[in-house]
Amino acid sequence: MSSVVVVGGGPVGLMLACELALNHVRPIVLERLTEIDRRPKAGAVTGRGAELLDRRGLTPPDAGAWPFTPRPVHPDSLLAKGKPGAGHFAGMFVLTGGPGTVMIPQQQLEADLAACAVELGVDLRRGHTLVDLDTVQGPDGRYELDADWIVGCDGGRSSVRKLAGFGFPGTDGISTGYQAVVELDDPEFHPHGWFRKEHGLLVHGPMPGRVMTLEFDGPPLHRDSEITREELQRSLRRLSGTQVQVTEVRAVTRFTDNARQADSYRRGRVLLAGDAAHVHSPWGGPGLRLGLCDAVNLGWKLAAVARGLAGADLLDTYTVERHPVAARALELQRASVALLSPGPHVSALRDVVSGLLDHEDANRWLTAAMGDLDLGPFCPDLSLDGGPRVGELQRTGRGLLLDLADDPGLRAVAEGWSDRVEVVTGRCEQVSDRALLVRPDGQIAWRSGDAEPLREQLTRWFGISHS
Ligand SMILES: Cc1cc2nc3c(=O)[nH]c(=O)nc-3n(C[C@H](O)[C@H](O)[C@H](O)COP(=O)(O)OP(=O)(O)OC[C@H]3O[C@@H](n4cnc5c(N)ncnc54)[C@H](O)[C@@H]3O)c2cc1C
Repeated sequence: MSSVVVVGGGPVGLMLACELALNHVRPIVLERLTEIDRRPKAGAVTGRGAELLDRRGLTPPDAGAWPFTPRPVHPDSLLAKGKPGAGHFAGMFVLTGGPGTVMIPQQQLEADLAACAVELGVDLRRGHTLVDLDTVQGPDGRYELDADWIVGCDGGRSSVRKLAGFGFPGTDGISTGYQAVVELDDPEFHPHGWFRKEHGLLVHGPMPGRVMTLEFDGPPLHRDSEITREELQRSLRRLSGTQVQVTEVRAVTRFTDNARQADSYRRGRVLLAGDAAHVHSPWGGPGLRLGLCDAVNLGWKLAAVARGLAGADLLDTYTVERHPVAARALELQRASVALLSPGPHVSALRDVVSGLLDHEDANRWLTAAMGDLDLGPFCPDLSLDGGPRVGELQRTGRGLLLDLADDPGLRAVAEGWSDRVEVVTGRCEQVSDRALLVRPDGQIAWRSGDAEPLREQLTRWFGISHS
């Protein structure tokens, strides 16, 4: 068995570690921080990311609900101009028909994933920083790690990406934004909701003290400088046109909209996933969706390779499948930032776009694109014999052969992959296929009517048979 080191114990690194462990490979996870980062980041996982969380049983029971009573929507806010319960594109709340968004603070997701990883036997090393591709600075000094495979899940400024020499082309940011939880001298300084303003965007709420600002005078001058109360206050004052005072900053992050993507997701023994592979603005919540789906696409493939069951060329399908998805998301994020910028010309363009989105086809297309819901044949959350759902059956993180016509021949073929593919026999009225082979990421790899035999597809995706 070859060794796997995951650099970065954020949501993507931890998700990948769980996926590897579910597939019999226990990686080392190096995480620079000794504790989970408390700065406010994601509050939700969207689209296919939300579906994949469900397929691993990671959706919290209260995922759709706010832990407080939200204020009524203010008539001038962008929410009031949208459709109730709809997802948004550039603050136009009109996207209907997607799967539910999972509302979960990033810190809670990271804590849940860390608990899951440790329970599965992952060696999670907090306070350990990768300083060179095989050198780690730990609490007791430097040590060498001779890993066969290294996966950089170390965020937007990834050291792994730089050390391994990946290209990271893209566009620079044109905006600076803040997300913060604050105490204000006047908590009612501005109505709750999303508002386009003369200089950008102001979001107040939904929880008390939460503010988000976006202004378009370029990216932050000093990205690493400490965020001061004064600079946040200046942004709030400019956008709100008030003299509001920030009396306390409980938590704050600064962000921009640079949009860049690694030229490949693999160079030899080094792979990238999550923000290490792609960065973009946070509007519409693509970050966790892309990153978690990267992890779920890569985990089982890397496990099969690390166990010597599949050739390294299986890993090339990771770049082939995931690179175009993030490339499209980056384009949508660029479009989204353009539509969030101020001015009458943009207002006119927003009216055109929202008019187009009144058409069902356009709305369906953008909903799918903003959630990555149109990627290949994704197995719906079918129910077998009115009993277990595919979503529940996929909690093992392995492949799934749905034997829907009680076919002993088929089961005999799959026997040789029993450590990687679960076989479940049952009936399902919703599909006419006699059998379906579902990959751990939910993609249908084979249907009973396909010309290629099952054995070939099992070998292609899961490696050699053990019998
Ligand atoms: C204001 C804001 C709001 C957002 N809102 C949303 C949202 O609603 N929905 C959404 O999906 N996304 C959102 N995002 C994006 C989301 O937060 C990121 O996409 C997500 O954090 C990416 O996860 P990651 O694991 O790839 O990287 P990170 O979360 O950055 O984790 C990387 C980890 O690697 C560690 N690390 C770095 N270097 C090293 C090293 N050399 N050695 C060891 N460890 C290292 C870091 O300490 C960190 O823990 C938001 C982001 C911001 C800034």
